[in-house]
Order: sequence, then structure tokens, then C-alpha cells
Amino acid sequence: MPELPEVETVRRLLEASVLGRTIRAVRLSGQRLRKPIPRDFPRRLAGRRLLAARRHGKYLLLDLDGGLTLLSHLGMSGRWLFHPRAPHTVTPHVHACIRFTDGSQLWFQDPRRFGLLRLVRTERLPADPSLAGLGFDPVADPPTGATLQALAGGARVSVKGFLLDQRRIAGIGNIYASEILHRAGLDPRTGAGAVRPARWVTIARETRAVLGEAIERCGTTFSTYRTLWNEPGGYGDELRVYDRTGEPCRACGTAIRRIVQGARSTFYCPRCQPARPARRPGAPRPR
Ligand code: ZN
Repeated sequence: MPELPEVETVRRLLEASVLGRTIRAVRLSGQRLRKPIPRDFPRRLAGRRLLAARRHGKYLLLDLDGGLTLLSHLGMSGRWLFHPRAPHTVTPHVHACIRFTDGSQLWFQDPRRFGLLRLVRTERLPADPSLAGLGFDPVADPPTGATLQALAGGARVSVKGFLLDQRRIAGIGNIYASEILHRAGLDPRTGAGAVRPARWVTIARETRAVLGEAIERCGTTFSTYRTLWNEPGGYGDELRVYDRTGEPCRACGTAIRRIVQGARSTFYCPRCQPARPARRPGAPRPR
């Protein structure tokens, strides 16, 4: 599933390729995505010019003139594909084909159809149900140890579950949560409420570093994710634990383990990320 670095890669490519173009017409496949694409979608988009490409967490926001925003989420397998010239053949699973007045085209392709395409009045975005419940964006607002610690106050989830909770932090998913916790040297099962201040500083630092490096490498390629030009992302070679069960830890050589947390895989190194004894209420703080 695409996470913040993959979506940011798409946003940058959209910004570089489609801004300023005017939509001539839109053709839909007629199939429903996570929710049906509204029938009036082509009519409302036709004639509008693309002004800005923004992102919050895993949501992409394409602002159009006339105060309208095209909101999209890639779901499990969605992608935007840009064609400077109209291709001769249409590939399968293209659910929206946006044709610009200059002959170029932008396609939304989504084989598994968990993606989302909606039109929202730009002024209403802050109250939109897709966005209103999201936490802060860790690239737009890089976290400090203090911000993470404050967010985790009283949290009854594991630190892995905390990083994945989109209502607290928007955009981190399974890949980058595992990577951040390995680099921070923390067992993913540790209770978020029990993480000490110095460790939050480390987690904040590694969150900024992992996301920044992944964006630099255009994200991680998995299953169908590709950049706008149909190229794979380059961060896969950098992964330290994700999807490396049984392979040696790049830091210490210990075999990477896989566990299941909240019905999702977590990958970690038992030596670099040792379990700490749970602190009972009232028990002395472990040294
Ligand atoms: Zn290790």
C-alpha cells in the first residue's frame, strides 16, 4: 500500500507535469472504486485548469480553478499515469482518463479498486470527512520528541500501532513504521504510553530521516506501485527490516523476525530492538 513517500513522489511528478493544463474531457470506466466515482465528475471537471498539487498524509489534492479540488487516495494499488501524448492503446483498470486541451492525458489506474476519487469545494476541504479526522503530516510538520510524546500521552496502543494511527500522524504505514522503529532501536510491541522522553526524541529523528530518505529515492516499489512515469521507486534496497524475515539484520547480522500486530505484519531485529520489561503502575522506573 502506498505510504507518504510514494504519494509525495506522485505529487511532485504531478506538480512538474500537469499544472497549468486545462481539462478538455474526462472518461470514466463506470466501475466503482472504494466509493463510486460521482456521475457528474466529467461535467464538473471539463474546462478547468489545474493550479496546484498538494498532499496531506496519503491524500493527494489537485486544486482546479473555480474553487474545486480533485481529492484522490491511491488505496492498495492506485496510481496516476501521465502521457505527454495520447497512447494508442488503453491499458486495463483505468477508471478515469483525463484528457487535456493540449493532447496530453492523465490516467487513474487501480486494479484492486480500493482507491478514491472525489471532487470537493476547496474551501470545504478542512471539514471534509476524508481529511478532517487526520493527524498532522510528518513531512509538512516534522515532529519533535515533545510533539510525539504529547500525542502518545495515555495511549493504550503499541508504539507500532501509534505510528500507524492516521488520526494521530497522517501518512506512515506498515513499511515505514517498521523501519523507523528499527532505526530507533525500539521493540515494536512497547506500549506507546511507556516510551520515555529521550526515546521519543530518537523516534522523531528517525521518522524525519526515514521519510526524507524514502522521498529522495522516490519511495519503495511493491506490487503495483510505480511513479507517474511508470518507473519503480528506489528505496527498496535501503529497507533494513521490512519484508526481510530470516535475512540478516544489516546492523548486527541477527535474523529478522516477523510478528503480527493488529492483523498486520511487523518486521524487527530481536537484538537491535530488545523487549524491555513492562513497567507496572507504581513500580520503580527501570534504569
Ligand atoms: Zn540487528
